[in-house]
Amino acid sequence: MSSHTIDELIADNGVRGRYVLVRSDLNVPLDGATVTDDGRVRASLPVIGKLAEAGAKVIVMAHLGRPKGQVDAKYSIAPAANRLDELADFDVAVAEDVVGDSARQLAANLEEGSVLVLENVRFDARETSKDDAQREEFAKELAALTGQNGAYVNDAFGAVHRKHASVYDIASLLPSYQGDLVATEVKVLKTLTEAPKRPYVVVLGGSKVSDKLAVIDNLLGKADQLLIGGGMAFTFLKAQGFAIGSSLLEEDQIATCQEYLQRAEKLGCDIIVPSDVVVASKFGADAEHEVLAADKIEEASFGSNGLGLDIGPKSAELFASYITSANTVFWNGPMGVFEIPAFAEGTRTVAQALADSEAFSVVGGGDSAAAVRALGFSEDDFGHISTGGGASLEYLEGKTLPGVAALEG
Ligand code: ADP
Ligand code: MG
Repeated sequence: MSSHTIDELIADNGVRGRYVLVRSDLNVPLDGATVTDDGRVRASLPVIGKLAEAGAKVIVMAHLGRPKGQVDAKYSIAPAANRLDELADFDVAVAEDVVGDSARQLAANLEEGSVLVLENVRFDARETSKDDAQREEFAKELAALTGQNGAYVNDAFGAVHRKHASVYDIASLLPSYQGDLVATEVKVLKTLTEAPKRPYVVVLGGSKVSDKLAVIDNLLGKADQLLIGGGMAFTFLKAQGFAIGSSLLEEDQIATCQEYLQRAEKLGCDIIVPSDVVVASKFGADAEHEVLAADKIEEASFGSNGLGLDIGPKSAELFASYITSANTVFWNGPMGVFEIPAFAEGTRTVAQALADSEAFSVVGGGDSAAAVRALGFSEDDFGHISTGGGASLEYLEGKTLPGVAALEG
């Protein structure tokens, strides 16, 4: 089954004067009200722009952070929407609510070729509700903003793994189309699952350990090497019997890691965990830190309570050499706390190896993408930088993505 594209939407009857509700991914990192990485805004721009150019009245729905179903100024969509406005050559208005008076009034007065961004859809608890009826009610209110002849476009790859009202339920209420960003992302991920050129190396890191462990299960039989850095490395080290001080640990996943290590051996897939790590006295830029062997984390000069915040230089070089010999690489999750320069080297070494390699490379994950940009790499150095961390992982786990499936058939 396949979905309709926005080119079809534009070609079919034209969209001039027609309302198009677009679900975009504007979930950018903020420092106060400053967007610290606008990658997702820029990735959302082409589809919004194409529709505006074709004369549609574009209403953008997006979320930012996890405001827990209530209005919370800290999670206002405004900084992301303002960034969109700066980048765009069309008008962008921002509603003060999601489906309230402000949204309805601005929508009703929207001009052809103009864009309205609704306030954070997660300010309404029905967006993420587990109750189908509540989500559907919210989806109906969103759809109602489009009047009689609206259409829906999902271009929010970062949210397609969520069964949420603006991602999933709304697709059954309006003629629905797949945005170009979602189409590109799905196409790239398909090449990673269907016929990756070998050697196929998967690099995993970051801090959401249990989220990411699940993907290993499905990749064990597919990848040639799994390189494990970031926070999850420490649960693996613990599973191998090492003492890890106060490093990130998911106690209840130790047995899972042990099982993965055993299964990997049987399947001929290598799981490579760091042999050395950068251990810090505390979490912070002013921490003391030293490089220690992975089995000596508790022997730091400042005491046994240290935290591993990066992979060590030997591990980074080893990871880089695997990447250099690979023909396909998928990377999700920074190797360390790259936001602090002292713990950014592992991530930098891996990113450099990937940038230099001829392999087909995909970088997934919001922070991973932010890391390569923050460390000064050009996006062109990588085959594809995915806007969706969780979504790309779930796809690689072999799961159906509700937001993609809802557009099909
Ligand atoms: P992504 O968004 O790319 O999927 P995550 O959100 O899972 O990645 O993780 C990114 C975060 O992981 C970064 O903010 C980084 O500081 C943190 N991180 C990486 N390594 C460690 C570690 N060893 N201990 C604690 N946090 C870590
Ligand atoms: Mg993240």
